[in-house]
Amino acid sequence: MNGGPTITALECGWLTTQERTLVDGGSTDPLRIPIPAWLVRHQQGDVVFDTGLMPALADDPGALGRYAKYFSAEMTAGDSVAARLGDHDVDPDGSMTVVLSHLHFDHVGGLSALPNARVVVHADEWGVAQSGDGTYDRELYDLGHDVLTVDGAHDLFGDGSVVTMPTPGHTCGHQSLRITNDDGVTILTGDACYFTHTLDDEILPPFGHDLDQQRRSLALLRTERDRGARILPGHDAAAMRSMQRT
Ligand SMILES: [Zn+2]
Repeated sequence: MNGGPTITALECGWLTTQERTLVDGGSTDPLRIPIPAWLVRHQQGDVVFDTGLMPALADDPGALGRYAKYFSAEMTAGDSVAARLGDHDVDPDGSMTVVLSHLHFDHVGGLSALPNARVVVHADEWGVAQSGDGTYDRELYDLGHDVLTVDGAHDLFGDGSVVTMPTPGHTCGHQSLRITNDDGVTILTGDACYFTHTLDDEILPPFGHDLDQQRRSLALLRTERDRGARILPGHDAAAMRSMQRT
């Protein structure tokens, strides 16, 4: 890791829904999206950004619960974040840092499989989630982990190589993760930007905490891209595949 932190996409299931569920003005055609987690390996420790779908879905499609009205899931035991980490010789029971972009089910679904992680979440997100906002599922993330709430950019290792980046709008406390290594700057956007094309077409989901705020976050990401950063959106199959390693 002399070149700085490495970044690997972990494929942690897929969801299919009608396009209009996720794209404002979209059709009723099916849209199939990957649910990635991301492994960032720093010489001082491992970071996992988001955790994919609930492992229980591998045995029980009913684990989708209230979301089954809108989504169908594809998930095998090998797609769980724990299994994917194992593929890369990372012990899911070991110490690590989990940075959560936000607390929607398809980003926190695998957190239960990482029992000894320290969780880093934006204070606004954690605050709303604790007060029982209806878009969150407390049983997926309020599991007794050591939780560090942050307000603004948080430098995980003190060397500027892995830094959280507030990108609110999709949810009130959404954050992305900015990684700097010998390849330059890479930003894991989470749901601040679903797809690569979203950066330019700005077509957001029909739902969101504050869509104007999300557009400002998108503009920030676009500026970073125009300065040379690699942007890895939250549900873009090509972006995920570009970072998968075997
Ligand atoms: Zn989301």
